[in-house]
Amino acid sequence: MADQTFVIVGAGLTGAKAAETLRDEGFDGRVVLVGAEADRPYERPPLSKDYLRGEADAKPYVHDGTFYAEHDIELRTSTTVERIDPAASKVALTGGETLRFDRLLLATGAQPRRISVPGADLDGVLTLRTIEDSEAIRERVDAGDRLVTIGAGWIGAEVAASARQRGCEVTILEMAEVPLERVLGAELGAIYRDIHTDQGVQFIGGAAVEAIEGDSKVAAVRRTGGRRIEADFVVVGVGVEPRTELADAIGIATENGILVDEHLQTSAPGIFAAGDVANARHPFYGPRVRVEHWANALHQAPVAARNMLGRAQPYDRIPYFFSDQYDVGMEYAGYATAWDEVAFRGDPESREFIAFWRLDKRVVAGMNVNVWEVTDHIQELIRAGRQIDRRRLVDPDVPLADLLAPSGSTP
Ligand SMILES: Cc1cc2nc3c(=O)[nH]c(=O)nc-3n(C[C@H](O)[C@H](O)[C@H](O)COP(=O)(O)OP(=O)(O)OC[C@H]3O[C@@H](n4cnc5c(N)ncnc54)[C@H](O)[C@@H]3O)c2cc1C
Repeated sequence: MADQTFVIVGAGLTGAKAAETLRDEGFDGRVVLVGAEADRPYERPPLSKDYLRGEADAKPYVHDGTFYAEHDIELRTSTTVERIDPAASKVALTGGETLRFDRLLLATGAQPRRISVPGADLDGVLTLRTIEDSEAIRERVDAGDRLVTIGAGWIGAEVAASARQRGCEVTILEMAEVPLERVLGAELGAIYRDIHTDQGVQFIGGAAVEAIEGDSKVAAVRRTGGRRIEADFVVVGVGVEPRTELADAIGIATENGILVDEHLQTSAPGIFAAGDVANARHPFYGPRVRVEHWANALHQAPVAARNMLGRAQPYDRIPYFFSDQYDVGMEYAGYATAWDEVAFRGDPESREFIAFWRLDKRVVAGMNVNVWEVTDHIQELIRAGRQIDRRRLVDPDVPLADLLAPSGSTP
């Protein structure tokens, strides 16, 4: 395949891992990795955690500086793909250069959603996606400024935790009653609310923001009804939008991301998509699933790369993510959209427990909090799709590995 050119649009974790895999798999053609950002590919999770707090030694790069040249990967940083010409199999880059491709991977990720209230463009209203965003927030945190986060999803909650750990006065405003309610539900969300309020964060649920006030820079956030919370800076964490614009422009099917099949192939032949931007048909779940998490980028990228090389490998991993807030670390596996109950193994008050989301006595998701090395077992329970006896599920004396053993064989 030495005469072939594979172009990857987006030099985030997905793009970097796809390029790496192409070489690992022996592809000897041209690999061009095009990224709009100035930095070489880096990992984003530290940007709301140790990197934000100034505790990281270095930028969290995916590969060391010599990796791309050593692997003959043409990394074009600070370069945007402006257009795809599918008929000519070319992409147009900023500056006018065009590149012919035999296969194209769209790894364009996602970008923070904005809020449209008066004052949303004041100095001090920030979002978090890039290294520069994280450094801008860190500057405010280091100055000891008062922070209001709008939204208590993962980004809002982690930024709040990091800022609080660095001594800032922090208020979280959230439309739902508790943090993280959309993914975790009310019960687990309440645990996360308490984790924050125990640290001295003010959490205000059921709060709609009407305006951000200030002359040229942020002075306060005004809630519907008129109540004001004074602030020096605001971090807006109200979700992300998948970056589908290149695909939309040429009629590739999109809906909440770029639609791909289980092989991560888009509706256009030879064009694949993976990572945050891909809304992928999932062989285990049936419908499409778009996952905005690190592990999905890490694992989908190699599958996309292999399929660009002509393998027909389906991507069927159970979604997984992690979060660290204060001294509370968690991992979540599964994709629960409906459940009958949440069952706890261990006492949630102790902040060392496993929560299982159950639907018709089957485990559809699990979250281990300050309990480690259980993710594989939780994923096996989900994948097995079997009804599990509740008493055994919540009993810490029954090893997770034994839950799928036929009853009676448990020691
Ligand atoms: C602050 C933060 C903390 C996070 N923490 C966690 C965590 O704790 N756990 C977890 O599981 N996940 C976490 N995530 C999510 C995880 O980082 C993402 O799922 C992952 O970054 C997705 O990788 P990606 O390569 O698909 O997309 P991205 O990381 O968004 O990368 C896409 C890249 O493509 C570039 N691009 C877009 N369009 C073009 C174009 N036309 N031309 C050229 N380049 C283009 C963008 O500039 C960007 O650099 C976090 C994310 C953030 C922002």
